[in-house]
Amino acid sequence: MASVNIDVAAVVKEIRESLQLVYNANEKRKTKRNEARLIVYRALALHPVLDNLHLLEPYDYSFRKLCAIYAPPNESPSWLSKTLLGRRNDKHFTKVAQLATTGTRAKVMLILLWIIGNRLEDGIVDSLISNVCENGIRLGTALREDEAADLVKQIAGLGEAFVSLRRTIKKRLPIEKDPYKDLKLELSRDDTMLCAHTFPKHLYDVRKDPLYLLQPASATTPMAGLPAKHESVIIPENELTRLIIDWSMKNYQLGKDVRTEADIDHRAYWHAHCRCEHRTGG
Ligand SMILES: [Zn+2]
Ligand SMILES: [Zn+2]
Repeated sequence: MASVNIDVAAVVKEIRESLQLVYNANEKRKTKRNEARLIVYRALALHPVLDNLHLLEPYDYSFRKLCAIYAPPNESPSWLSKTLLGRRNDKHFTKVAQLATTGTRAKVMLILLWIIGNRLEDGIVDSLISNVCENGIRLGTALREDEAADLVKQIAGLGEAFVSLRRTIKKRLPIEKDPYKDLKLELSRDDTMLCAHTFPKHLYDVRKDPLYLLQPASATTPMAGLPAKHESVIIPENELTRLIIDWSMKNYQLGKDVRTEADIDHRAYWHAHCRCEHRTGG
């Protein structure tokens, strides 16, 4: 999404100013809550994954379409749909619009977190959001390590904002057809192992490590016994994982679909092998 660039230094300055308000004992509670949320949106917007995804062209059209699906425009929902369907504008999506281009990046991140986190456990989603904020500060800015650590520590104290965001992410997806409905969660062992390709495989379950999809390979320490991220290929361990990976590749062009060994590209954010011609019906 090269089309949405932000002035990182200016965003860091705004985060610092808001933090002063949040940690000022004399500020009103409402101001603190408001500023805390703005800080979290800004930290989300700094994350480097946002420089590695591409919305389908034409950018404006595809992005507006995506946003309309996930955060319906400021239509006022009828009393009936409010009551029966629980459809109303999400407060975070409304508020994030105050931040102009920073807000656009935050919104793209929020949609991605929504898709990844909607079906995950509360605690996992909480740590996903706070880790993405932390990595936004650590990897998305040119701050010295001690400066970054100081900001990360202060942002980690904004628990109420994280919980509120988690509630948005865990809400039923506001789309007509819930892609997760009737999802068969477990694939049989045979389904995941019956693959003749020789690339290094990384059996992956999004429920255990959702952050993996958002981490640049350069910031990932390979775990013992696992191949380095930039040359390994994700084999989804269950349908939920496959669906999220498919969605990310299709809508955000994040990651690369690998059909054969020749598709491996070291510049890809990650690789995934979702369908294999070596097994039938897959
Ligand atoms: Zn295969
Ligand atoms: Zn093949």
